[in-house]
Parts: sequence; C-alpha cells; structure tokens
Amino acid sequence: MGFCLFNNVAIAARYAQENYKVGKVAIIDWDVHHGNGTQEIFYEDPTVLYISLHQYPFYPGTGSREEKGTGKGYGFTLNFPMPAGSNDDDYLKIFGNEIVPALEKFKPELIIISAGFDAHRDDPLAGMALTENAFSKMTDLTKSVAEQFSDSRILSVLEGGYNLQALSRSVEAHMRSLK
Ligand SMILES: [Zn+2]
Repeated sequence: MGFCLFNNVAIAARYAQENYKVGKVAIIDWDVHHGNGTQEIFYEDPTVLYISLHQYPFYPGTGSREEKGTGKGYGFTLNFPMPAGSNDDDYLKIFGNEIVPALEKFKPELIIISAGFDAHRDDPLAGMALTENAFSKMTDLTKSVAEQFSDSRILSVLEGGYNLQALSRSVEAHMRSLK
C-alpha cells in the first residue's frame, strides 16, 4: 500500500535465504509508516523476525501491538506503534529496551533495515519529531547486534523521506554509523 511495486526488502530476505543459506533474517523497519506488506508476507514465518516502529494511528492503519504473527510465526512480528510527536528519546528507549533484547533472543544471521527517514521532524508527510541523531543511534545499536550474531552483515534499503534536506542529513548520519 506504499509507493512501491515490489517489496525490495522482503524479496532480499527470501533471496538471501534461498541463495546464501541464511537461516534467520531480522527486518528492522523504522520507516514512519507501518510495513503492512512486509508484515503480511512473513506473518506465518518464524525464520523472519519483522520489527516495525511507526506512527500510530496513521496510514496504512495496521501495526498495533496485538499484531504478533500467526501459527508458527506467532511472536515473530513485533510492532511498536508510536504516537505522533515521538522524539529521539522515545524511539531510543524502545529500541534499547525492547528491540535490542528481541534481536538478541532471535539471533539473526542477517539484518535488513527498511531505512525510511520520514519520521524526521522536518518531514512533511508524518508527524514525528526525530532528528538525525536518532537514526545514527538506532544504527549503532543495530550494528552491535550484527557484530554479535550476523558476522556484521547489515543490508540497509532506502525507503521513505520527503524533505530532501532532512533526508540527506539523515542518510549521511546513518551511513556514518554503518561504516
Ligand atoms: Zn514511509
């Protein structure tokens, strides 16, 4: 329901599993919109941990905490709905206290980031209050998990971001943390 014809991240996760013998993949989606497509694709799949932080309630309407997966996939979808106006501290608290422990428990062999930067405070589409610093810190935390479990393998895929100045600063902060 977003602006894409293909779900690049979902295709990449499956491709890695089928072609590179990667067992468990974690997808961290900090785009401000809930990734309803990614969630649905892996909803019954315990080999892909889908984690989303997003503005809620907001388009596309999905992504409540109660949506946790189904069947064998129950518990492998984790939604962190955030109220409009959430700032760096709000995001980093959730990331440090809930997302990092969930990743450590899952032990991903590959981490893919749905790297949308539309939760930035200058973004015109959404109502969040993040600065570049939040993206930098979330990247640092993701990196520390990747170093422990996935041989430092992180694939980051650019998603939303609709104020070009804020987007370029956020991408730069993200990439400086990645290197
Ligand atoms: Zn978005």
